[in-house]
Amino acid sequence: MKILSVNAGSSSLKFTLFEMPDEKVIVSGTFEKIGLESSIYTIKYNGEKIKKECVLNTHKDAVNVLMSELISMNIIKSYDEIEGIGHRIVQGADRFDKSVLVTDEVCKDIEELIPLAPLHNKAHLIGIESFKEVLNDVKQVVVFDTAFHQTMKESEYLYPLPMEWANKYGVRKYGFHGTSHRFISEFMNGYLKKDAKIISCHIGNGASICAIEDGKCKDTSMGFTPLAGLMMGTRCGDIDVSVVPYLCEKLNISAEQLVNKFNKESGLLAITGVSSDLRDVEDEYLKGNQRCVLGLDMYSKKIVNYISMYNTLLGGAEYIVFTAGVGENSPIVRGLVCDKLKAIGVEIDKDLNEEMFGKFGEISTSNSKIKVFVVPTDEEVMIARDTFDLVKE
Ligand code: ADP
Repeated sequence: MKILSVNAGSSSLKFTLFEMPDEKVIVSGTFEKIGLESSIYTIKYNGEKIKKECVLNTHKDAVNVLMSELISMNIIKSYDEIEGIGHRIVQGADRFDKSVLVTDEVCKDIEELIPLAPLHNKAHLIGIESFKEVLNDVKQVVVFDTAFHQTMKESEYLYPLPMEWANKYGVRKYGFHGTSHRFISEFMNGYLKKDAKIISCHIGNGASICAIEDGKCKDTSMGFTPLAGLMMGTRCGDIDVSVVPYLCEKLNISAEQLVNKFNKESGLLAITGVSSDLRDVEDEYLKGNQRCVLGLDMYSKKIVNYISMYNTLLGGAEYIVFTAGVGENSPIVRGLVCDKLKAIGVEIDKDLNEEMFGKFGEISTSNSKIKVFVVPTDEEVMIARDTFDLVKE
């Protein structure tokens, strides 16, 4: 059965076509700059990468181009060979604790949650609608970034604010990257053949940490929005909110504009003054650039803070897992973090750490009290799995 895994953004659409249940990737790609003057799309197929420019006014145009490319590349003979489409949805709030088939009711819920994730949920709905228009009756499924975190207890997800703000306005911690953390949980528990106490560190451009026990989330670092928690590429993570009115006055900007700066002009980019891309920061760090030294010190300390907290919450973690762009590929960040975790008995093997790039493996020594692993995450396959499970019934 062919299942398409989709991530629709405000001007982009990423896709991966799977053969299920084999989980074989047939083709993948990205449409970018949808609605702008000229759009670009790339398709990866059979080890080759095709890049084309065209005009795509809407997401529906992108879906039409995608389908005709699949036909002309002989990947499918007719549209109905695609039997299910799974969409990544950023915000499901407390309404969804698992993936579900798309219905009018479900779309209404996602729409009602737009105020909690204005850019994301709106774009996801456009994605769902576009596939509905082009593929008529195809079954669609929604997979929420927040769903895995719905097992958090009140004591974890509530902010110490007036209760009615949580009840009336939904102001509480939701957590994000749930599909990735769930992948790590299922992968590790499958590998270990037991339900382990895991601290999953998804460190990419966006970054979050999740404490997992019995395959369930106990707590996670992101909050009401993906701005909270760790220091990230361009996001500040946790800060004292009193700086908001103070800076709005000093900079003469609105709270919304300031939060935009917290999201896009802060984090590693702000501290290093070099880049939000860790590869650039590492190049300068290795040359001794002091702002990059400071940046990576802060960046790794925030990760250490959350790992330490979750180690306590779990009553002693058994595994720390690094994943996503930085977690999978940066021995420097992993090294800086693990060096600071010596006090809780973490010890990594320097050579194993240096060798581990984008592949699965252990990097801790046999003496390490908490075992440290690198696991490449795969959110697309999780979306395809959930979609297949719901569509095949
Ligand atoms: P997101 O999905 O949040 O956009 P990714 O998980 O793709 O982010 O991670 C992107 C980050 O991973 C970037 O900061 C990038 O520099 C970093 N990264 C990717 N490859 C490497 C590498 N080989 N060494 C260090 N950092 C890397």
